[in-house]
Amino acid sequence: MEDLNPFRIAHAQFARAARHVLISDGLLDTLARPERTTRIDFPVQMDDGTIRVFTGYRVQHNNARGPFKGGIRYHPDVTEDAIKAMAAWMTWKTAVMDIPFGGAKGGVVCAPKQLSMDEKRAITRRYVTQLGPTLGPMIDIPAPDVYTDATTMAWIFDTYDMTHKGQNNLPVVTGKPLELGGSHGRATATARGCLFCVEEAVGRGLVDGLQTLAGARVVVQGFGSAGAHAALFAQQAGATVVAVSDSTGAIAAPAGLDVARLQEHKRQAGSVCGFAGATAIPSADLLEMECDVLIPAALENQITAVNAERVRARLIAEAANGPTTPAADEILHRRGVPVIPDILANGGGVTVSYYEWVQNIQDEQWDAETVDAKLRRKMVSAFHTVFDIATEKRLDPRTAAYVLALDRVAHVTELRGIWP
Ligand code: NAD
Repeated sequence: MEDLNPFRIAHAQFARAARHVLISDGLLDTLARPERTTRIDFPVQMDDGTIRVFTGYRVQHNNARGPFKGGIRYHPDVTEDAIKAMAAWMTWKTAVMDIPFGGAKGGVVCAPKQLSMDEKRAITRRYVTQLGPTLGPMIDIPAPDVYTDATTMAWIFDTYDMTHKGQNNLPVVTGKPLELGGSHGRATATARGCLFCVEEAVGRGLVDGLQTLAGARVVVQGFGSAGAHAALFAQQAGATVVAVSDSTGAIAAPAGLDVARLQEHKRQAGSVCGFAGATAIPSADLLEMECDVLIPAALENQITAVNAERVRARLIAEAANGPTTPAADEILHRRGVPVIPDILANGGGVTVSYYEWVQNIQDEQWDAETVDAKLRRKMVSAFHTVFDIATEKRLDPRTAAYVLALDRVAHVTELRGIWP
């Protein structure tokens, strides 16, 4: 039986790359572990007057290259090990993207669809308050993740700001609403960056017979912030989006889905299911559909030892964190299916978060074109750096991305020296 524990998976990926770097065992041991793991259990008064206790986590993995940085997830399946894995992935992602942040992640165990806005706001305020001085604009900067959004980020900012008067607190959190210190392009950055990678992969000849995205068949798992925009940008690039899914089901339309209309349908119906002109398909079948590009944009452990042999995509771009297990990676690598790994493919989100943070510190607002152009340069550069290492060292792209990240974090740690 395959081990699906996300932290052990993250460690297996780390250990595989560690064989290809010249870093001392002691330093590797340091980089493998989160610096601080905080668990908080906190009470919230619900709308009906009852009190419920929620469990939250914030894991700060590494800050050698800059302040801790990472999203906050609200989901019933949040566990300490999942958050530890994602905090580590953030450290490697910020290093791959070459932005001056470290890695962190947070989460609250809850079922957001069963909570009212007031309850979600109360959870957010209490969570931030109890994390106390471990968060801060130069210490640890949260951002959105699954089932948290710009509104959640506005509450995080407000909570912090109410208790830290007299200073510019906007950079304490990114992914904020545009009118409250948010950046143009942040809401779409993860998807935009992912599509830049896909275009570079196609341009580099990684998908046999495909020179551009025009006419390419694309399948997207997850139709939220990352997935819906990825589908939209793929369509805008000329691709045909043949199937998508969300937590309620999957739909397919061989002639292509009108993504903008589907977004509107999802807004109204709360689900991609029931979209006119599309056929319902079993969710598990979506990952095995014949297509040029598969974009997993939902949760971890979707492509595993169980289904990797049956995946018929010719390129996989991981908008989600941790969608492919190490056993699946091996199968896909053997079968010659290139995988653009999460710590590269979804690095656009944290990159524009960094731009938002810089704009907040400088009290500026850049226009959408500036943000997009900067993001494209970063993504293209990171993409080719990773794939050049993969080619040169004959590594799969994930291991190559880890090698780059480990080298960068280890180098800075050595420059700084171990305190005291
Ligand atoms: P989101 O909450 O906006 O969307 C999640 C989507 O996944 C929803 O449409 C939900 O219905 C769907 N989903 C949930 N379970 C599913 C399942 N079993 N099958 C199919 N679909 C399912 O979250 P998001 O921000 O888009 O995050 C999605 C992934 O992208 C996560 O892995 C997240 O860590 C990663 N990511 C997000 C960002 C960002 O900026 N939002 C950045 C980097 C990585």
